[in-house]
Amino acid sequence: MLKRDIPFFAKQLNKMFPDAKTELYYNNEFQLLIAILMSAQATDKQVNIINRNFFEFLKIPKDWIDLWVEEITEFINSVSFFNNKSKNIYKTCNILVEKYQSQIPKTIEQLTELPWVWIKTAKVFLAVIEDAPYIWVDTHVHRVLNRLWLVNTKSPLETDKKISKNFTKENHWQLHNTLVLFWRYHCMARKPKCKTCEFSKMCKYYKKEFKKNLLK
Ligand code: SF4
Repeated sequence: MLKRDIPFFAKQLNKMFPDAKTELYYNNEFQLLIAILMSAQATDKQVNIINRNFFEFLKIPKDWIDLWVEEITEFINSVSFFNNKSKNIYKTCNILVEKYQSQIPKTIEQLTELPWVWIKTAKVFLAVIEDAPYIWVDTHVHRVLNRLWLVNTKSPLETDKKISKNFTKENHWQLHNTLVLFWRYHCMARKPKCKTCEFSKMCKYYKKEFKKNLLK
């Protein structure tokens, strides 16, 4: 499978995971932004434990700015960079209240002006909330796309540049959400489920492993 087949791959993944959605816990788009923000260098599981406890009480930006920063730090101290995250969540909530009347802006430019909201955060947020044609290429996505020879690249950044231009609103087929499920539960770094994978015939990794076994 080569680069031109990425929309086909996206469509197939959508068939595999027709109900794909983020595994982060949230009840509204503001909470999703906070959850993504907290998930930097942390697992969805760690973030969900915190959010299931506190999102019942912290529903809108104003709820957070009514707290002391130290209280936020205490709430989220089981995720990495909690000191930085708490300060930046507090600042972000202030900006949302003052500049956006507690609404969440919906462009990458506006979102990335918020503290601690990187381009990754903005893309993931828009992909989940609006099904926008964005994915974020981390090491996992980079691994999968190279295994399938959808790209032939050396770094996630290079992969991102190559594949982002392939998508339109019409052809990306929820790719962000389905890709996460694909690398998390099917094409893992170790022991991917090649025997039951419908992409095996096209997969560079599978061919390599298969040939290696033939020579044993
Ligand atoms: S065949 Fe194996 S390595 Fe290739 S995409 Fe499928 S699960 Fe991943």
